[in-house]
Amino acid sequence: MKVIRHIYEMQHFIKERKRRGDTIGFVPTMGFLHEGHVSLIEKAREECDTVVTSIFVNPLQFGPNEDFDRYPRDFERDERLARERGTDVLFYPSVEDMYPDGAGVQMKVTERTNVLCGEKRPGHFDGVVTVLTKLFHIIQADRAYFGLKDAQQVAVVNDLIDSYFFPVELVACPTVREEDGLAKSSRNVYLKDHERFEAPKLYQQLLRAKEQVQTGKALKDVRQEMISVLEDIPYGETDYVEILSYPQLQTVETFDRKLIIALAYRFENARLIDNIIIEEKL
Ligand code: AMP
Repeated sequence: MKVIRHIYEMQHFIKERKRRGDTIGFVPTMGFLHEGHVSLIEKAREECDTVVTSIFVNPLQFGPNEDFDRYPRDFERDERLARERGTDVLFYPSVEDMYPDGAGVQMKVTERTNVLCGEKRPGHFDGVVTVLTKLFHIIQADRAYFGLKDAQQVAVVNDLIDSYFFPVELVACPTVREEDGLAKSSRNVYLKDHERFEAPKLYQQLLRAKEQVQTGKALKDVRQEMISVLEDIPYGETDYVEILSYPQLQTVETFDRKLIIALAYRFENARLIDNIIIEEKL
């Protein structure tokens, strides 16, 4: 596995690989890799000739009071995992290289961002699509792999690809979980023991809500019950609980199309998100 830090070198490498006819699979990450990231790398490995994984903690997608400075980082461990699990090139650019003009030109998302993390983290998705536009241009991938743990991101990035005619196919991959159901996340390391003990309740509530939706309970009642149960968790607080159409992310009254039940929950040093997508009834 090659580690490439400079954009011009990455572009040169991709040009060579394209010249020999390789398909390129791209896995963008912020590092501190876990089995969720690895599942994307492995899927790309199965489907593409050359697999590029990027590690870039993108300052533009963090708000002023968010955790950019203390986002977990461990490059040596990431390098080992990326290599062992099938990456050909680990792209690890610096902030200065990615934003040579100090982010003087940025993208803006106006659809699907008035809800969920878009609403709670103003500017977050503008930062995400800005960095992905840069990365898509550099990597020129045939397929880009994203996790449905960040389902709103998948919806927004699909829009980005369609709106700007990026010749890349987005492959959405299922959420990888701990044995007790907690969604794997780089931020889980910041859970204190007593919080880690409570955290699986988030997914348990999503599962319960899914069953209630599928057995015909009114969506507003399902949501209300989730909110009350989450309130009983002795630590942290709910940021949002929503039931929306997916991928449109619009308010719905009844279960007559594909839905997402999504939540965000703040523990002391880690804000966790999770969701479950429910297909329309047959
Ligand atoms: P991040 O490093 O958190 O920006 O995540 C990089 C990619 O990995 C994104 O497409 C995420 O959706 C995906 N990802 C993160 N956690 C998981 C997980 N538990 N299961 C599957 N994909 C994940």
